[in-house]
Amino acid sequence: MKKFILAIASMALLAGCDNANQKDDNMKSSDFNWVVDRFDDIEVIRYRVNDFESLTAKQKELIYYLSEAAVYGRDILFDQNNRWNLAVRRTLESVYQNFNGDKNSEEYNNFEKYLKKVWFANGIHHHYSTDKFHPEFSEAFFAEQLNALPDSKLPLQKNQTKADFITMISEVIFNPEVYPKGVNQTEGEDMVLTSANNYYHGVTQKEVEAFYEAKKDPNDHRPVMWGMNSRVVKNNGKVEELVWKIDGLYTEALEKVVYWLEKAVNVAETPEQKVVLQKLISYYKSGCLKEFDDYTISWVYDLNSQIDFVNGFTESYGDPLGMKASWESLVNFKDMKATKRTEIISENAQWFENNSPVEDRFKKETVKGVSAKVITAAMLGGDCYPASPLGINLPNSNWVRSEYGSKSVTIDNISEAYDEASQGSGFAEEFVYGDEAKRLLKEYGRYADNMHTDLHECLGHGSGKLLPGVDPDGLKAYGSPLEESRADLFALYYIADNKLVELGIMPNAEAYKAEYYKYMMNGLMTQLTRIQPGKSIEQAHMRNRQTIARWVLENSQDDKAVELKKVEGKTYVVINDYEALRGKFAALLREVQTIKSTGDLAGAKTLIETYGIKVDPELHNEVLARYKSLNIAPYKGFINPIYTPVADGKGNIVDVKISYDENYMDQMMRYSTDYSCLPSYN
Ligand code: ZN
Repeated sequence: MKKFILAIASMALLAGCDNANQKDDNMKSSDFNWVVDRFDDIEVIRYRVNDFESLTAKQKELIYYLSEAAVYGRDILFDQNNRWNLAVRRTLESVYQNFNGDKNSEEYNNFEKYLKKVWFANGIHHHYSTDKFHPEFSEAFFAEQLNALPDSKLPLQKNQTKADFITMISEVIFNPEVYPKGVNQTEGEDMVLTSANNYYHGVTQKEVEAFYEAKKDPNDHRPVMWGMNSRVVKNNGKVEELVWKIDGLYTEALEKVVYWLEKAVNVAETPEQKVVLQKLISYYKSGCLKEFDDYTISWVYDLNSQIDFVNGFTESYGDPLGMKASWESLVNFKDMKATKRTEIISENAQWFENNSPVEDRFKKETVKGVSAKVITAAMLGGDCYPASPLGINLPNSNWVRSEYGSKSVTIDNISEAYDEASQGSGFAEEFVYGDEAKRLLKEYGRYADNMHTDLHECLGHGSGKLLPGVDPDGLKAYGSPLEESRADLFALYYIADNKLVELGIMPNAEAYKAEYYKYMMNGLMTQLTRIQPGKSIEQAHMRNRQTIARWVLENSQDDKAVELKKVEGKTYVVINDYEALRGKFAALLREVQTIKSTGDLAGAKTLIETYGIKVDPELHNEVLARYKSLNIAPYKGFINPIYTPVADGKGNIVDVKISYDENYMDQMMRYSTDYSCLPSYN
């Protein structure tokens, strides 16, 4: 599970630089080039790998190998998102590299913008809304470019003429009716047939559901995550799976990933880490899901290595049925200082569980293995690149989590980069009501936000239990937003608890108010900047935030703990009673936990449909207009640093240098040239 950045980066854009003193051994923030590129609704920024220099040569070597493995999976994600994505990308890149015309023309600039968007989204659908991109250059311009290229520079299909290829690829790119939506979750529609991803071929939602239903054994208390590493197809009328593994689908890319993982085995930091790597390699070769569970268990147990990684088919947000996992990688190392804070939280996990406002029968008697750490990202790959999460909690298997625990991380240098890149944007001046809220956000914004992330990941997702016999997938499409709500509410409830001040991890009794204000403002108003006029909310995290904020607002009509106030034509969130607000978070947490624990599908549906999806059009338009005037990109993503190994005379790596001087387009082209090994059609 991922915790994404809230709509407008974080509010610490108000804060000076709270944690500047933590970073004094690094380059000064003002000397670092944070912002790299800007196009459409995207800003590309750079993250800084703080304290990389303090690692040993062997640790750096390990990071280098894992980073190579991270980048080699990039093609897989393109292909997973849509079966034409690799062909589209390669065609666009070929035009980009061979273009001889006027680079200042509007057509060309619009073409380049489209290419940048496709790179960023790992395909032809927006990474967040999953709506199909509409190119702003003409079909005629495009055809002219393709006609000027030799056949060898285009990904023609077997025996295909160039004319046929141009017709085919133009249809994919320009026709808005073809693959209009990446992930369609509309109730009542066939979500499998109407989603553009490449997880299913020629099968209906009913067929897929029946296929996996038949595999599930209700008496198996340790079920594998059926369907997470395969495409479902129909072969001679029979539904079957094509598994993503070496000698299966995606062989060419997975062989490279494994090649670099094998090198990593030789420089593993600990015997435990070596086992983790070996099991992952073995699973990539077999595709066996039991082996995958076994690998994740060793991964959860490997707590002593400073360097860690995610590498594999991981998150299922891209599948409307929530089974198929997109490929991603994150290479990282532990931030020793900041990890102390989350250790204190997880050491007290049982206290939080016992004292939470949920019904006692839904509480875990023993909260296990909530390991928590703050990490520094060293390389992002696949579904973590360029748009990166701020925190991760893995593995996703329910029984592994409850028997062995999970790892929960907060990626501090990613949130640092968001904050640094957002300084002076004018956002707070526009949306925050009154001096008091502005002061709170300035003083505590970034810290409280980090604390919220820690609580969400370390405690929120791991808390509570299902009643015996409740199907963990029973809440269907509502499961994901409901689970995020549960974790958020747990965090919101506890961030205001005096226990955190007693534990020495919150500065005082008012700091939490910064997070409350920000959360309500985001959930009620500012996250709407990510939604186009007339559309409703689809993304799970956004549904969750609006559900919480709208529910609380509606339940504040009597006491006015929170209200929307209009001043000179502008709407603001006003919090009149923070303590009462906490009580409302508690009440909703109790309700949400009950829905989850009892598998109450109707309850989940009512809650999310009532509060989480529909948008007030008038407020939406107002927010969009005010936001537009600030000219801030609503989405941010990251480019990676470059690691260059330094070898001695015998070819042994003795050091790895890090550099940050690449720009966005150069990095994307380099990855497409040096790390691309899948065929265009898989
Ligand atoms: Zn989460």
